[in-house]
Formats: sequence, structure tokens, C-alpha cells
Amino acid sequence: MSACRICAQALRTRRLDFGPQPVTKKLLRSADAIAPSHPLALAQCESCGTVQLADPFPAALLVPSEPATTREPEGHLDALVERLCALLPKDARIVGVSSKDDTTLARFEHRGYRNTYRLDMQADLGIAEPNAYVESIQAALTPEAGSKLAARLGAADCVIVRHILEHAAMPAQFVAGVSVLLKPRGLAAFEAPDCKASLDHLDYTMVWEEHASYFTGATYREFFQRAALDEIALDSFPHPYESLLVFVGRRAASGVDRATSATGASEQAAFDTFLDAFPSYRTVVRDALRAARQRGEKVYMYGAGHLAVSFINYLDLGPLVDSIVDDAPEKQNTFVPGCGIAVVPSQAIADAGAFTCILGISPDREHVLADKLTERFGEAVRLHSIFNRSPRAFSATAIHR
Ligand SMILES: [Zn+2]
Repeated sequence: MSACRICAQALRTRRLDFGPQPVTKKLLRSADAIAPSHPLALAQCESCGTVQLADPFPAALLVPSEPATTREPEGHLDALVERLCALLPKDARIVGVSSKDDTTLARFEHRGYRNTYRLDMQADLGIAEPNAYVESIQAALTPEAGSKLAARLGAADCVIVRHILEHAAMPAQFVAGVSVLLKPRGLAAFEAPDCKASLDHLDYTMVWEEHASYFTGATYREFFQRAALDEIALDSFPHPYESLLVFVGRRAASGVDRATSATGASEQAAFDTFLDAFPSYRTVVRDALRAARQRGEKVYMYGAGHLAVSFINYLDLGPLVDSIVDDAPEKQNTFVPGCGIAVVPSQAIADAGAFTCILGISPDREHVLADKLTERFGEAVRLHSIFNRSPRAFSATAIHR
């Protein structure tokens, strides 16, 4: 597979290749259970510059084994809804594509917009698996499915799509599937993570098997220039860890044939640096953990979510981590796919003596956990973060340009 899924041009031959990787959210019931895996390699288009998985994981492999819960940042939603309300009459039909859009629809309702609707996974998209989520929605909402939906439900004045596009194996097809839900000149808002800061700061936690595409502001704009939507706004809402890109566009009057800006060249340098720095970052992390082992310390990873599991597997840290600490009831007596490390409750570190702990929870909660562990263990705990922009980063300066 060497064609860009965004623009169909060639992918560059340079890859960040992690080899076969499991689905990180699917914890195992025994240490030696076989986790299904798929090749994971990060590539870049030589034309549009979009960073992407060379070969996305099949949707069927990604269907969660537990009901999915996500917490996408919401601080910017009032501003987004205000922008859209200025363009929409009070009786506008406003449609959300997934449960990620419920809080946005609620904001419209709060402002007096009563004609809202959220697509139903089973009835509207024909998705039967009870735990199916965005991995299945992106595949189901094809232009054909969208046309049938529009005929049955009526066309919409506005469609909201938060955090699905980056999961789409065929992004242009997915946007076309959403666009046909719209009335002529109807509005669509697509939100996705802005990966520029992660690329620039060499933060490898950006990579995740569920994200097929890794947009920056430049590549996001170029992507939508190819879609049948006229840009009204493209905002990057700042967020300390990962800003949010929101494209707002109007369904184009007729077939589009637009010139696109060629962003590839300027995006290539950032990706090259990201690739080039990976081996030295991995060495820095491994050396820190080996040193802990030589001091006789146990090494814990705190958090059994996808960020922590990916960090262990991508950096091949399995032999250097003793246990994974997580108090979530559903994760007790499980083992992490890829490395087979046991998940233990936080009680297990009570009498550990001196130890090293890698903080692998979400970056906005990291400092709270760090304070808690420092208060409880004082000098006995040495803390590291999986995030390269954390004050507890393994290598805040060594690998920065
Ligand atoms: Zn491309």
C-alpha cells in the first residue's frame, strides 16, 4: 500500500514502522492470550503532506470489547455553536453523527434550537455490534448510505461531526457521506485533533492504531479543498496538549474543481525530524528504566489506557516494566496486549520500597496524580511521563532540536 488515502498520490518511502501491533484497548484475560494484531507504520504523503497510517487497522478489528467512553475537550464548543447559530435560523434541522456530538446538540437546544437529531447506530447506520463506535461509523457512512438517510430523514441544515474524521480509512468518502446529508448550501462542522504540536515536540504518544490520519492546520485545509464544501472557517482551538481543528464549510453548489495548495514540502521537514529523533528517544527511555532496575527499583507504568499501552509497545519496554497500575474495576485481573504485563491495583505499590513510576494517564490529569504519588511516597518514588512536553518528560532537552 503506497497511495495516500487523502489525495491518492504516492506516499513517501520513509516510515516510522512499529511492526505488528495489537489493539491497545483490548486487555487480555491471561498473560499468554494471543492478541490480534495488524502492521502499524506511520507514513507521509509526498504531495499533500498528510501524516497517516500506511495501512489502517480494519474497522472490525477495532470494535471495542467494552462499551467505549471518551472525553473529548469541550471548552471551545460554546464558541463553535455561537458561530453556527449566527448562520442558522431557529427552525434549522441540526444533525449529530455520533454520541460525541450529544453535548454540542445540547448547546443548540439550550439556545432554542429544537429541531435536533442524532443518528442512531443501529437504525440509521445499520451497525449491529453493541460496542461498535466511531471505527464502525466511519466505515458505515458512505455516500450511498448518506443519500438513503437523507431521503428517509430529510436533509439537514447543519451536520456536526466531532472526532471521527481522523479515524476514517477513506476520509474523502466519509466527508462525502456526511455532505449528502445536507440541504444545498447546508453547513457541516468537522472536528479533529491538531497534530502539529505533537510532531514539532516529538511526542510519539500521538500515534494510535485507531487514528488513521494525523492532520495539521495546513493539511486539514488542503484536505477540505478537495471536498465538496466551501470553507467558512478553519479554527485551531488551543488546548495545552493537543489543539482542536474545526473546519466549518457549506455544501458546494455544484461539482468542485478547485486549485489546492501544495503543503507537502513544508510538512516534510517536521516529519523527517519526528522520524529521525525516534531511535534516540527510545534509547533515552530504555536507559532510564535500565538504570532504575540497576538501582534495584521496581518499574511501574501508571495507567492501562491506550496511551500507556502504546508507549510500552512502540518503545519495546515490555521487559523493563514490572506491572501496570490501574484501579479501574473492569481492568482488574487483566494483562496488557503486546507485552503481557499484568494490571495491578494501586495498593500493590504500597510497600514497594524505592520505585520508578511512568505516568501514562491523560496529560490534563497527570499533575494531580504526580502530586498524589509524591505526597504518599516522597523520595521513594521517581516519576517520569510518557509525554515529551511534561515537566516529568524522560528527555525534555536531549532530543529537542
Ligand atoms: Zn496526499
